[in-house]
Amino acid sequence: MTGSDQRPFPPWLEVRLGELVRLVSANQAPSGLLVTGPKGVGKGILARAFLQRMACTDAGDSRYGCGRCNGCRSFLGASHPEILHVMPEAPGKEILVDHIREVIEFLSLSRSGPARLVFIEPAEAMTVNAANALLKTLEEPPGGAMLLLSAAQPARLPATVRSRCRLLRVPVPDRGVVADWLRSAADREMSVEEALAACLDRPLEAQALLEDDTARSAWQADHAALQALLRGTSPFPVIERFLACDLASLLPRLQRLLLSVQHYLVQGERDAFGRLFDSDSLQRFAH
Ligand SMILES: [Zn+2]
Repeated sequence: MTGSDQRPFPPWLEVRLGELVRLVSANQAPSGLLVTGPKGVGKGILARAFLQRMACTDAGDSRYGCGRCNGCRSFLGASHPEILHVMPEAPGKEILVDHIREVIEFLSLSRSGPARLVFIEPAEAMTVNAANALLKTLEEPPGGAMLLLSAAQPARLPATVRSRCRLLRVPVPDRGVVADWLRSAADREMSVEEALAACLDRPLEAQALLEDDTARSAWQADHAALQALLRGTSPFPVIERFLACDLASLLPRLQRLLLSVQHYLVQGERDAFGRLFDSDSLQRFAH
């Protein structure tokens, strides 16, 4: 990405970013945009790159912000006066109606630039009251206002909010493209293929697993719990290990492991996720 980040911008997001920048250049930017796609595909990276591009005063024909001008610098320092980022006070908490009142107030202030942007992430964290409060602004946006919403589970948003937004879907990218991008990361204890399999093909989670000790410890705990399940003769050690894990990451991996067991039964060989476990215990569990 541009700016302080050394890693290249995720190539699977380039086309989407280009589409957005083109809409703005053609004065066809929607006043409400809903970016959807599974967790970990880069919705936040895409939204931030777009916001930075909007803040940039020196981008020319590029789809990226330059990273050097005052606009980019104030965006990267989270102090751009025309951009408001709305998120829950802590991960997993709700976005409340008071947050949306701040949005309405922000949009009512006089503008110094051509556009005023609000980024709500994750949009499905809005309470029903918050979403209803936002609806009026989506229906009758002040001139130059653009609301950018990001949601991994758009079905949790009221249909009235969804229907007022232009949809931009970010699908799970091609595995080979992600693997090439991940290979640009340094200091790895596991292979890119293993990390992608362990993270169920979600690029940003695989990146964290390759680079971040916390993500690695969480994977090791999940892996040990699932390995204990495969080997398990008694349920107690398995339960003990399950209790040491974060269920939010463990349960999708457990579901994935059961699919790998099924794959093994049908095909007689391990798939990418199954290869993270020893074949003897997978075989024993399958039979
Ligand atoms: Zn710039």
